Amino acid sequence: MADSTTETAVYLCTGCPLGCRLEVDAVAGDVIEVRGHTCKRGERYGRQEYLDPRRPLSTTVWVRGARVARLPVRSAESVPRDRLVEVAEALRGVCVDAPVRRGQVVLADVAGTGVDVIASRSLEPVG
Ligand code: SF4
Repeated sequence: MADSTTETAVYLCTGCPLGCRLEVDAVAGDVIEVRGHTCKRGERYGRQEYLDPRRPLSTTVWVRGARVARLPVRSAESVPRDRLVEVAEALRGVCVDAPVRRGQVVLADVAGTGVDVIASRSLEPVG
């Protein structure tokens, strides 16, 4: 039950297309209640979003020796939302050599987040 010491944050759950409106009550940084979820996944999302919001990252890096100049990559897991700019910066100068296999680690422990960035597709070498 919310009182004057309770902070309420509102999020839209991205767990499925239903997009439930979540209300997360917290006191002194601790989540005490999540409302508005239709399933357990939504409750977990609300807690996570309040305590440690994370986002998946998809981008491209340079690739040498392939038919294309850029390789699509993604984070193997979601990264802390407030580190996304650092992660993008860390990937800016990265260049890999073909061949590349889908799932291959392109940059381990990107920006010290503990998350690896992996190739989203395979690329064969030219010639
Ligand atoms: S709470 Fe459950 S039903 Fe609602 S949007 Fe999230 S995942 Fe979908």
